[in-house]
Amino acid sequence: MLENEDFNGFGFTDSMLDAIESMGFKKPSPIQVQAIPLVMQGKDMIACAQTGTGKTGAFLLPMLSTILEMPESPGIKALVVVPTRELALQIDQQLEAMAYFTNISSTAIYGGGDGSGFDQQKKALTTGVDVVIATPGKLLSHLNLGYVDTTNLKFLVLDEADRMLDMGFIDDIVRINKFLPAVKQNLMFSATMAPNIRKLAKTILKDPAEISLSIAKPAAGITQQAYLVQEEEKIALLRSIIDNNAAFTRIVVFASTKAVVKYISFRLQSEKYPAKSIHSDKEQAERETILAEFKQGKLKILIGTDVISRGIDVENINLVVNYNVPDDAADYVHRVGRTARAETKGMAITFINDRERRRFSRIEELIEKTVDKMPLPEGFKAGPEYTPEALKAEQKMKHEKGGDKGKRHGGGPKRTGEGGHKKKSHHKGKSGHKPGGAAKPQT
Ligand code: AMP
Repeated sequence: MLENEDFNGFGFTDSMLDAIESMGFKKPSPIQVQAIPLVMQGKDMIACAQTGTGKTGAFLLPMLSTILEMPESPGIKALVVVPTRELALQIDQQLEAMAYFTNISSTAIYGGGDGSGFDQQKKALTTGVDVVIATPGKLLSHLNLGYVDTTNLKFLVLDEADRMLDMGFIDDIVRINKFLPAVKQNLMFSATMAPNIRKLAKTILKDPAEISLSIAKPAAGITQQAYLVQEEEKIALLRSIIDNNAAFTRIVVFASTKAVVKYISFRLQSEKYPAKSIHSDKEQAERETILAEFKQGKLKILIGTDVISRGIDVENINLVVNYNVPDDAADYVHRVGRTARAETKGMAITFINDRERRRFSRIEELIEKTVDKMPLPEGFKAGPEYTPEALKAEQKMKHEKGGDKGKRHGGGPKRTGEGGHKKKSHHKGKSGHKPGGAAKPQT
């Protein structure tokens, strides 16, 4: 295995190295160290990795570099199939930054919308876009109409394959694959290696290399608990936990959005709880003062979004409350990891409303632990039922009924690659976004 201290040893084109530098990536993340050489060698690969590990770069960087070295040819060169519109857009944005100094063009194709959106997508697919990032149902509609040129396709990437299977996309994926050349490089990413994932891998991948980068599990010293609770009673539950546990002297409350952070902070402060929040509307100096007060033990309750889950290094936090279930397991582990540092004991409590149940059951799958569900204090309304298997089946049914319809349509291509892509080119000042420097901190 390569000992990559930086990105120079992978054999990337200069234009890719320029983009990596502009994005502020100093060294490859662990998954990138493992995956990039395999992708550059042309191997099929199955990788077990979660969002937040740099997995998108692990396939996009070598894929783009390889496309740049290919002789010019018409049609799509790479197809990335993803479960949701949000992920399609997110990957397209990363691709735009990574392909900034090249002529590689891309488009995101996803479900829903009206006829004009479909026509726009059709135009993108027929005017020579290099990389397509798509949700399965909508892509299949286009493929079935016969105008998508996949004869020169070299890469198929299935991202978040486990989620696609959960959503009932298996048949669509197999059908999509039938439209593609038999000889190509297939890459599959999944947060778990469940038996149905292995089965799909067998159908599509050829003699794949396998890499696994499982997330760190929460430390053993942390007691994890959860409450199934109605959304409108979460504040009352939070107050009840704080009031009834004097031993919790340093508490961090995580919420998923700035608006919720402000709401919790307003509700606690109006009842005179020693609570303050940190969010992006506050000046840096104010945020630092609040953090310092918290560190010194002058402030008991700190409220924020995941932004504080990654950076804060405060000793003796004895309670972490997830007011919302985090989006993915990596965020959960980060949040929960703020307590019980350095072998101390700590408690992490998650509030789950009815719409957050499936997300929490996915987290339990990933951390391979069933978190204790606590009874609500007296006087609370009954919380939602929690039966992970039923939730999974329900989600699958919903998606099978609706496919990926009901979401907004994708846009057209950003650069339709008029001149084809130039190798090792430095097209500074091209249209499109500059490579963003705002990389998320690594896990
Ligand atoms: P992902 O797991 O692909 O969703 O990536 C998570 C975040 O990490 C994204 O914001 C990337 O821009 C960023 N990222 C990916 N690779 C690196 C790297 N080698 N160094 C720093 N940030 C990175």
